[in-house]
Formats: sequence, C-alpha cells, structure tokens
Amino acid sequence: MAGLVAAARLRELGRDVVVHEKGTRVGGSMLLSSCVIWRHRDWDDFRRECPAGDARLQQLIWERLDDGIAWLESLGVPVVWQETGNPHTTGKRFDPKALTETLAARAGKIELHSDGCSGETTLLCTGGFAASPALVGRYVAPAGSLRLRASPWSEGDGLCLAVDRGAALSGGMDEFYGRNMPDAPWDETQLVSLSQLYGRFARIFDEDGIEFFQRDDVSWSETNIVQATALRRDAKAYYVLDDEALRQRVRERTVAELVATAPPEARVPLADLPFDPPVGTVDAVRVIASITHTIGGLRVDERARVLREDGTTLDGLYAAGVDAGGVATGGYSSGLAQALVQGLAAAEDAAR
Ligand SMILES: Cc1cc2nc3c(=O)[nH]c(=O)nc-3n(C[C@H](O)[C@H](O)[C@H](O)COP(=O)(O)OP(=O)(O)OC[C@H]3O[C@@H](n4cnc5c(N)ncnc54)[C@H](O)[C@@H]3O)c2cc1C
Repeated sequence: MAGLVAAARLRELGRDVVVHEKGTRVGGSMLLSSCVIWRHRDWDDFRRECPAGDARLQQLIWERLDDGIAWLESLGVPVVWQETGNPHTTGKRFDPKALTETLAARAGKIELHSDGCSGETTLLCTGGFAASPALVGRYVAPAGSLRLRASPWSEGDGLCLAVDRGAALSGGMDEFYGRNMPDAPWDETQLVSLSQLYGRFARIFDEDGIEFFQRDDVSWSETNIVQATALRRDAKAYYVLDDEALRQRVRERTVAELVATAPPEARVPLADLPFDPPVGTVDAVRVIASITHTIGGLRVDERARVLREDGTTLDGLYAAGVDAGGVATGGYSSGLAQALVQGLAAAEDAAR
C-alpha cells in the first residue's frame, strides 16, 4: 500500500515516479486484507497498547490518519464501513480491490516483476520480511515454521538493501502481527475467513499439553496469543472449547460458527488430543501461528527518512509501511494506517 500511496501523492505534487513491483500484481497484502484502516480512538490507549513504539511515529499516524482517509475518499475509493465497529478504534473499511485499482491508476508508471530501483530518491516499501523464513528465523525466532498469511513477495528486500547501506533497525524485531489459523491447507482467498479469532474464549494448550496462555490475558486483537503460539513446539496450539465458549459472539458470528469454518483436518476429535481435555470440552481446533507482517524494521523519522544508528539520515532513502519498524512495538496497530500515513509523509518530504 505505502508504495502506491506515495506514488499517487508524488504525481499529485507534480513529480515523476516509477513504482517497481516485484510481484505479478500490485497491491501486496493490502489487496488481500480486510482493509479496515484504523487508529486507536484515544492517544493514551495507543501508547498503553504499544508502549515500546516510537512515540513520534505513533503521533504522526494518530494525528494524520483522519486526513489520510479523507484523501483516499477524495480519490473516489468507496467506503464499505463508516466506522470500525470496535470501541477501541476509529477508522473506515474500504474495498481492497477498489482501493488498489484507484491507487494504481494514479500511481503512474508501474513495472511488474521488478525488484530493481534506480532513482535518485528511493522509497522502500516492500512490506517487511514475513515471507522470508530465513529472516523470520533470525529475528522472530519462532519454535516452528510460521505459515505465511500475507502476499508472498515481502521477503525483506527493503530491509536488506537499507542495512547494507548502514541503516539502523528499530526495536521489536522479534514481534509480528498475524493470526492463529487452522492447521490445515488453505490459500490466499481464505486468509480472512479462516482466521481463528476466538482465543479469548478458549482454553489454550500446546502440543505438550501445557496450558500456556490464559484466555483472560488474550488482547482484543489477539496478537499476543499468536506471538506466544509461535514460541511453542511446532508453533502450534489447541483451542479447546466448552458449550459456554461456543455460544459467545465475535461480531455477527458465534464462536461455534467460527469453529465450523476450520477445515476437518484441524478439528481434532477429543480422543486424539495429546492431553486430557478439561471436563466439559466439546470442541478442539489445532491452530498454527501465521505471520502477516513484521513489527520491527528499519529505523525511520517522522518524515520517513531512513536513519543510521547515530540518528543521521541516509541520503535519498525513505521507508514506509511495515518496512519501517517501531510503530506497533509491544502491541498492535493498523499496518494499513501506517502505510497510508508514512507513504504520504515520504512523498511530501521527497517532493520538497
Ligand atoms: C488477510 C489480511 C488481513 C489484513 N487486514 C488488515 C486490516 O483490516 N487492517 C490493517 O490495518 N491491516 C490489515 N492487514 C495488514 C496490511 O495488509 C499490511 O499491514 C499492509 O498492506 C502493509 O502495507 P505495506 O505497503 O507495508 O506492504 P504491502 O501492502 O504488502 O505492499 C508491499 C509491496 O511490495 C512488493 N515488494 C516486495 N519486495 C519487493 C521488491 N524487492 N521490489 C519491488 N516490490 C517489492 C510486494 O509485492 C507488495 O506489493 C491485513 C493483511 C492480511 C494479509
């Protein structure tokens, strides 16, 4: 998203720009997303939930997001929801296909299958390193392979290029945003519908039968349980549910309906569980930690300029979106909001 946003804004400001897209299509993970672009409703909540994030970057996103959303609307992107429906957050939901098409149409020249860049000023917006098992292994260090719940081309190319030129890394390199997904085959059309987003109602065990996370400790975004699952054997867990849990609601669906979305391979008969289920257990789903995007990345300033360890900038090098780290550290915030605001900030600074 950040790249298309920046290119569209640069052209609006009368600058020449070429978008180099490594994949076979534009849109990256934005195209696959639920496309809710949001911020925390209260600034203090944002700080409390992402306490180790860089407060200057967080403030930029928190203050500029509403204008960014208004800019998207001014381009004619249709709004699907006028509000997030989450009491903690405010923002809008867009149609990901329409958003991608609108931005791409305004971004000018786009070269697909390209990972080269030759401009005098370069904005890195390769979407982090979730799709690189080697980099995920080095920085996130999960106990088993994480499944990729994102577009396949975000292999850390921006990170590696900038680090080679002397860039510093942000905090939170071991953190990621993702979902616990059924431990069964699925494809990119099912990344939203198969998310097992009811950990807060389940009892949660690992492959060794250890109840490693209490449901009361699961955060509203459920990011913390996914990160914790990544550190258990094989990066897997069992969500174990009784009747009361199955009756709970997550938005418009009951937990029972969400459980029913899991493919049969992930629905574990109680007799086959590798531990004795608690009394009253009715259903069990084996989930695997799946990574959508990394939270750590390149260290940048509020103008999206890439920084060295000593705080000086690297000439002509910007990073936006989840290539830039240090925003959601310690918690979770909207990756799309980050991509939108930092994409605009980078474009405006580069244009100047
Ligand atoms: C299923 C799902 C649901 C989600 N739901 C939400 C949501 O509701 N709200 C939210 O805020 N976030 C959501 N996200 C996360 C959101 O999509 C990302 O945070 C966001 O897209 C990050 O933007 P980006 O510009 O950094 O990366 P991307 O949008 O992924 O774009 C990166 C682009 O860089 C390209 N690229 C990679 N390497 C190279 C290279 N070397 N050269 C050229 N191009 C390269 C990629 O192909 C891609 O097109 C969701 C993601 C998924 C997968």
